Amino acid sequence: MGRNGPTLQKIPVAGPNLSSLERRFLLKAFDSGWISGRGQFIEKFEKAFAQYIGVKYALTCSSGTSALHLALLALEVKQRDEVLVPDLTYIAVPNAVSYCNALPIMCDIDPATWNIDPKDIRSRISRESVAIIAVHLYGNPCDMNELMALKKKHGLYLIEDCSESLGSTYKGKPTGAFGDVAVFSFFANKTITTGEGGMVCTNNRKLAERIDKLRNQWVSSGYNHGGIGYNYRMTNLQAAIGLAQLERIDGLIKTKMRNSKIYDGYLDSKMFEKQQSTEHSFFVPWMYAVKGRFPSEKFVKYMAKRGVEAKQVFTPVTRQNPYLEKTRKYSNKISSTGICFPSGTNLKPSQIRKVAQLASGFRSNS
Ligand SMILES: *Cc1c(COP(=O)(O)O)cnc(C)c1O
Repeated sequence: MGRNGPTLQKIPVAGPNLSSLERRFLLKAFDSGWISGRGQFIEKFEKAFAQYIGVKYALTCSSGTSALHLALLALEVKQRDEVLVPDLTYIAVPNAVSYCNALPIMCDIDPATWNIDPKDIRSRISRESVAIIAVHLYGNPCDMNELMALKKKHGLYLIEDCSESLGSTYKGKPTGAFGDVAVFSFFANKTITTGEGGMVCTNNRKLAERIDKLRNQWVSSGYNHGGIGYNYRMTNLQAAIGLAQLERIDGLIKTKMRNSKIYDGYLDSKMFEKQQSTEHSFFVPWMYAVKGRFPSEKFVKYMAKRGVEAKQVFTPVTRQNPYLEKTRKYSNKISSTGICFPSGTNLKPSQIRKVAQLASGFRSNS
C-alpha cells in the first residue's frame, strides 16, 4: 500500500541487473586506487570479451557512440564519404557518421526482420560509398551472408553495431565476429552494462592499434602525441562492473529467452506480430519487440495507466530533425506500430506474465 492507497508496482521497460559480484569487483577497483582509464579490470574485461565474441582484439571505450566513432575513424572515413545505415535505428549510428563529416545514407528496412534491407542498400550504393553499418536491431542478427556478399562485391567496409545483440549468433558465430569492426554499448539498459561504456572489436591488428591510439589522445610517449586523438577511455571502475556482468552473461541471456517465451505464450500473434528472426540465426531479444495491429501510441498509454512501461520503437532517422528526408516505407510503418515490452533481466516471471495478461486484454477500439 502506498500513502494514497494501493499503488501498482511500476514495471520498467528495462533496467540493469546487478549482483553482489559486480559490487565486489567494483570495490576491489576502488580500493586499488586505479579509478581512471587504466587498470587490471580493463585488461581483464577486454581479454574476456574478445574471447567471448571470438575476435583477436577488444578495446574498451566510454560509450557505444564513441565506439562507433572510433570504428569510423579507424577505417579513415572522411568528409564526403557515404556510409549506408538503417533508417530504423538509434540516433548514435548516423550521428557517428556525421562526426566524421561523412554522409549517412539511410536505407529502408526489411519489414519482417526490421533490419537493414540488402536490396535497398544495393539501390543506394554510389561511387562515394565506403562502408555499411549493420545494426542487429533489438538483437535480431542481420543476414550476414547477404551483407558480406555486398561488402565483397562493392569493396565496402562492414561495421556491425552489436549494441543490442550481445549473445545472438549467426551460423553459430557471435554477432560482432563478422565485420571489419564491431561495436557494443554497455548503457544501463543493455544486456550487460557498465553504467556508460562501449567496446570495439576487430581481428585486424593495424585497426586495433589505431583504435587504441585514437581513444587515448594518440599518446606515443609521455606528453608526445603522434596524431589527433580523443579521450574515449573507459574507467577501471566501469570495467570492474563489466567483467562481473560478463561472468554472469549466460544467466542473463537465459532470462531474456525465458521472458520472450512467456510473452509468446500469452500474446495473440494476430494482434502482435513478432520480429521475424533471420535464417541461420540465434536471436537473443534484447527487447521483446512486436508490431501491433494498431497505433503503438494508444497501446503505450493503455499500459502506462496500468503501471507498465511499454515503449514505442525508435523513430526513423529520416524523421529526426538533423536528417529529415523523404519518408521510408517500412521503417515508418514499424515505427508507428512497433512496441517494446518490458524485457529487463531483473523482472520476475510473475511480472512478465502480468504484463502479458494486461497486453492481451487491450482492444484497439476501446
Ligand atoms: C545503445 C545503442 C548505441 C549507443 O549507445 P551509447 O552507449 O548510449 O552511446 C548505439 N547503437 C545502437 C543500435 C544502440 O542501441
